[in-house]
Amino acid sequence: MRSCETPTSYADALHRWNGKPYYSLDCHLKNRFNEKVYKLALDGGFTCPNRDGTLDRRGCIFCSAGGSGDFAANRALPIAEQIRQGKSLLQNKNTGSKYIAYFQAYTNTYGPVDRLRRLYTEALEQPEVAALSIATRPDCLGRDVLDLIEELNHIKPVWVELGLQTIHEPSAAYIRRGYPLSCFEEALAQLNERNIEVIVHTILGLPGESFDAMEQTARYLAGKNIQGIKPQLLHVLKNTDLAHDYEENHFHILTLEEYTDILIRCIEVLPPQVVVHRVTGDGPKSLLIEPAWSGHKKYVLNEIHRQFKLRGAWQGRKYVSD
Ligand code: SF4
Repeated sequence: MRSCETPTSYADALHRWNGKPYYSLDCHLKNRFNEKVYKLALDGGFTCPNRDGTLDRRGCIFCSAGGSGDFAANRALPIAEQIRQGKSLLQNKNTGSKYIAYFQAYTNTYGPVDRLRRLYTEALEQPEVAALSIATRPDCLGRDVLDLIEELNHIKPVWVELGLQTIHEPSAAYIRRGYPLSCFEEALAQLNERNIEVIVHTILGLPGESFDAMEQTARYLAGKNIQGIKPQLLHVLKNTDLAHDYEENHFHILTLEEYTDILIRCIEVLPPQVVVHRVTGDGPKSLLIEPAWSGHKKYVLNEIHRQFKLRGAWQGRKYVSD
């Protein structure tokens, strides 16, 4: 596909990728489905082993009470109704007729497989749903769950989103991720074997991580068979243990300039066919403590694109210091 070839210049990258210097989700979905496609954030009523006491009761240190699904629909509603409501919220801006059903909140493979089948199938049966995206942990992908996802992947595309965040074990221990890197590698191998697309979530700005350490995570992922990446600026949200640590220790919060710098370094090392699902985070404004600048999403996006341009940088091109 033309979009996946390495561009030869910044201008070529913009030409290939709908005006962006990286292969964005928006561009990928238009290529794939021939129209604008929106994601509908759903809540399947799950919990998480990091919250129900199986591994821990406190959750990951940054995780809000909504289980990182603060924009997801009302979990009390059936999936079909959540999809209907999500569509109606988008009716003023949607120009297409297809959607990605995104099981976002908590750990969306953490439950009996017959329950998972019922929920996923209900979403896939909606005619406007073009694909399913399932956010989960690599330690919650047993063989029966993998078999189910592989089966459904033959009906419509099913993607799995894995919350890796970092490859560095001290950071993983700090955030209470609850599984080692080897667990991620085993899950990725299983998903690759079954031809299931994988999107990996990473966090930029974890306390104690240098820019080089963050770039190492990106370089590690650049060498893996993944189809997408979701870099996320570390958000300090109210009522999280991360917020308590910030109050006590005032660890460094990335400035916009620093975030832009490290984000570009990370995107530059990714192969051009890896879809960049986002370049800014979506912390709910009502919960956001830091970084305050991240609430100005349009400004942040413009600044990121401006810096890409200034550096002549684009995805797949190795970083050259300016
Ligand atoms: S694995 Fe996800 S849902 Fe569970 S505590 Fe961590 S961020 Fe929250």
